[in-house]
Amino acid sequence: VKTLLCRQSSPFSTSSRCRTIMPAWVIDKYGSNEVLRFTKNARFPFLRFPNEVIVKVFAAGLNPLDVSMRGGYGAATLSVKRDPLNSMQSGSDFPLILGRDVSGVIIECGMDVKYFRERDEVWAAIPPWKQGSLAEFVVLSANEISHKPKSLSHTEAAAIPYVATTAWSALVNTAGLSKDNCGKKRILILGGSGGVGTFAIQMLKAWGAHVTVTCSQNAEGFVRGLGADHVVDYTAGPVEEPLSALDKFDVILDNVGGDTERWALNLLKPWCGAKYVTLVTPFLHNTDMLGIADGMMQTAATVATKALKHLMKGVHYRWGFFAPSGPALDEVTEMVDAGQIRPVVDETFSFSQVPQAFQKLENGHARGKTVVQVI
Ligand code: NDP
Repeated sequence: VKTLLCRQSSPFSTSSRCRTIMPAWVIDKYGSNEVLRFTKNARFPFLRFPNEVIVKVFAAGLNPLDVSMRGGYGAATLSVKRDPLNSMQSGSDFPLILGRDVSGVIIECGMDVKYFRERDEVWAAIPPWKQGSLAEFVVLSANEISHKPKSLSHTEAAAIPYVATTAWSALVNTAGLSKDNCGKKRILILGGSGGVGTFAIQMLKAWGAHVTVTCSQNAEGFVRGLGADHVVDYTAGPVEEPLSALDKFDVILDNVGGDTERWALNLLKPWCGAKYVTLVTPFLHNTDMLGIADGMMQTAATVATKALKHLMKGVHYRWGFFAPSGPALDEVTEMVDAGQIRPVVDETFSFSQVPQAFQKLENGHARGKTVVQVI
């Protein structure tokens, strides 16, 4: 009777320890959209460490990484991170829950959690080695979460954390930008109309930088509306030609990859500490193809060679990576509540439409973010 009462009551009135199962979208193998499976019987997450919290998910944001992970991208590295002792065992990753952004409410705090309490509204970007937010509940470390901006609904909030922490990691940690040193800087964002680009434009404009953006012609008004000072249409011909005619840049954030790095570094001011940071790196592809040890060696050799080659021309070449960070999100919360950054929700889906949401992502041409309303 006690168990029955527990399961029927709200997550706040009784401890979540009473629950053993929850609804979620899971995958049991890697593949295309058909591998997504809804279940009411996913394992309820539990606190493994005293600094963790359980969050009831209200909205989940999706990213291109979710589509890639559904197909097995990064599996070699991520399974070692998830469970080093069993990573060689086939199937140890499953059932896997995707979804990297969450906005929701804390229902349980571990004993070492000081800064958060039950019922706090929080948001977070979930590291790819953890179970994701396409579920009713998710477990996160307290240092990965932050209080959600009061001015946003959960659906709006779920459009920000993953792209914000990625842009923060690339622009602040790797490129060395901050609100105090952007004033006179010229920044180029290659690929400004997607999730990372739409966030980066707004953050850099809030910090006073001059921002040039590449995007397709039909996104020009959209990125100008977010604050872009100068827009170059990459569909009109080789984009490096109009970009070369502009004054040189202090920082380039590359969200596009491919052959961009063949020409983009020539657009930087030489011998001034200017940096090119690309988010499109072969790191996880290398470890998937070559295994962890050889993949990491290959990666280190590639990045070191490129960095040295460009250093001799007076510019810095760097790879940028997503990094989970509650403190970075605290700063973003302030900027959102101050009206400096707004969520850019491209399309919203209900929890029953998760396969459609993945399909939308796969179709490309994002104009901001795809969000799933879990409640
Ligand atoms: P999105 O899919 O949200 O956005 C991509 C955008 O780029 C779309 O708006 C697309 O619109 C536009 N685009 C496509 N081709 C070009 C081009 N040649 N020039 C300019 N714009 C173009 O992706 P995200 O913003 O979320 O991520 C960007 C990239 O960064 C992805 O490759 C992602 O995998 C990577 N990434 C890497 C991370 C890391 O840790 N290293 C973390 C997060 C993201 P359209 O096609 O209509 O022009």
